[in-house]
Amino acid sequence: MHWINRRDFIRKTALVGLGAASFGGASVLARPAVERRLVLLHTNDMHGRLDAFPMDGGKYQGMGGLEARASVIQQIRNEGHPVLLVDAGDFFQGTPYFNFFKGAPEIAAMTHMGYDAATPGSSDFSAGMENLATQWKLAGFPLLACNYGVAETPLENILLPYHIIVRENITIGVIGVGIDLKGRVPEGLIKGIEYRDPIKCVNETTNLLKKKGCDLVVCLSHLGDYYSDGKISDTILARENIGVDIIIGAHTHRFFQQPRRYVNKGNGDTLVSQMGWGGVQMGRIDYFFPKSGTNKTLKANRVDVDKKNAE
Ligand SMILES: [Zn+2]
Repeated sequence: MHWINRRDFIRKTALVGLGAASFGGASVLARPAVERRLVLLHTNDMHGRLDAFPMDGGKYQGMGGLEARASVIQQIRNEGHPVLLVDAGDFFQGTPYFNFFKGAPEIAAMTHMGYDAATPGSSDFSAGMENLATQWKLAGFPLLACNYGVAETPLENILLPYHIIVRENITIGVIGVGIDLKGRVPEGLIKGIEYRDPIKCVNETTNLLKKKGCDLVVCLSHLGDYYSDGKISDTILARENIGVDIIIGAHTHRFFQQPRRYVNKGNGDTLVSQMGWGGVQMGRIDYFFPKSGTNKTLKANRVDVDKKNAE
């Protein structure tokens, strides 16, 4: 497995005040008190890129594609640590596949790869909420958005505010939060979906998840990382939330070199990450939970989804 940004990782390590700057497996981590480890893998804005980018001299030629992604994920699973695999939306729309199959192959492939949760992006509504609901009936993982009211729409009981996953004694609360669809998606395709304040909804949901004993709160966001006009974004949500550990971002198609760190309203750290678009990279955050207390630590990496890493 080839890792990129080793230097960034070490810098990041210092940033979040980790004790160990070691790299690789748990065996080299000089932290005997660590009891549990969780690997968070994240993607966003696949945009129907089922195949690798064509070898046409483009920036991402040969990268991405579901086959390579499945292989990279499997290799990481083979390391033996529990994995949480999530996506922050815009799986649909962007290649002719979507025009023919309406997203079915994307959802089938993500189910096959063992995705644990996803939030919808604006593009996922581009064939209407009925289509999203239809495709999701075959999905093996939940679709989350805490700030979309979907009562009496086709997404009722399909689009959920949050999902709790317990993986080897680690309780993970996953929240979804969506962008205002108005003006981005034709009105008729989203009729009856009520848009609610992202910060208020995320905080209410976080509160609930903390009460339910979550060790880690992951927010899948399709808000976008930042807007110069002050519009709600991951940057604002990161500062205004009360206890989200990490915001997995999307929509603005930014390739983050490393997660950004903010101090939230609960006086804790909220990280924000985003992995560009097209499935060319995957984010990897390894969380280390101590034997006692809640003072978890982490290391962050990016993984290229390409033939070399998929071998
Ligand atoms: Zn997108």
